[in-house]
Amino acid sequence: MRKKIVAGNWKMNLLPVEAVNLYEQMESSQVPIGCELIVFPPAIYVATLNERQGSIFIGVQNFHPEESGAFTGEISVSQVRACGAKYVLVGHSERRMIFGESNGFVKEKIDSALSHQLVPIVCCGESLAVREDNEHIDFVTNQLAETIGHLTALELSHCMIAYEPIWAIGTGRTASIAQAQEMHAAIRQWLKNHFGELAGEDISILYGGSCNAANASELFACPDVDGGLIGGASLDAASFLKIARSF
Ligand code: PEP
Repeated sequence: MRKKIVAGNWKMNLLPVEAVNLYEQMESSQVPIGCELIVFPPAIYVATLNERQGSIFIGVQNFHPEESGAFTGEISVSQVRACGAKYVLVGHSERRMIFGESNGFVKEKIDSALSHQLVPIVCCGESLAVREDNEHIDFVTNQLAETIGHLTALELSHCMIAYEPIWAIGTGRTASIAQAQEMHAAIRQWLKNHFGELAGEDISILYGGSCNAANASELFACPDVDGGLIGGASLDAASFLKIARSF
């Protein structure tokens, strides 16, 4: 079933007390929210936030696909699962560009997440140069082919997609409604072609890239946008909750 989701990517921000305060402020909202909320704190806070047993799900921004071993500084998929995370971000453009993660490695992470009952939010998105060359749809569907193209329809049903144009991330420049809907519809069509009508119809496709309390309702009104992956605006409880009430 296609779910409505608002997910906050806290990136490398917040000290421990700030992270707990932010999570508790979000949890204390009395106004009903008609979507599922997820936060992606720095991984060292996952266990602490999970102990609060709140209704907001917790995920990790990064993990290593192996169960254990000599990978100094990494956090394994089984450790992530044991600390209470339910979701994992994979293929975020900052991981791809700064840390050199390839489509092949993203694919390994997706397989590993699925085999540990974690839900991968698979990020995809083009650079400004690719968009200006009008290659954005081919570029993004190729990213999907190389990262999730091998999955079964059942495996796909345990994933979500986040379309995040790189030129919109952290820049204050949001995709227009037409640009967002065009790409989301193209992604959904590609999924239908590869996995069947039902699988494509059922999957949640989130938009990310300078989504905030002022533009979320327009974006979420697009028929193929099922919510948002929010960076900067997720660091403020009031903004994040306002976005969550924008459906
Ligand atoms: C992100 O990094 O996933 C993101 C969408 O960031 P921002 O909302 O700050 O553009």
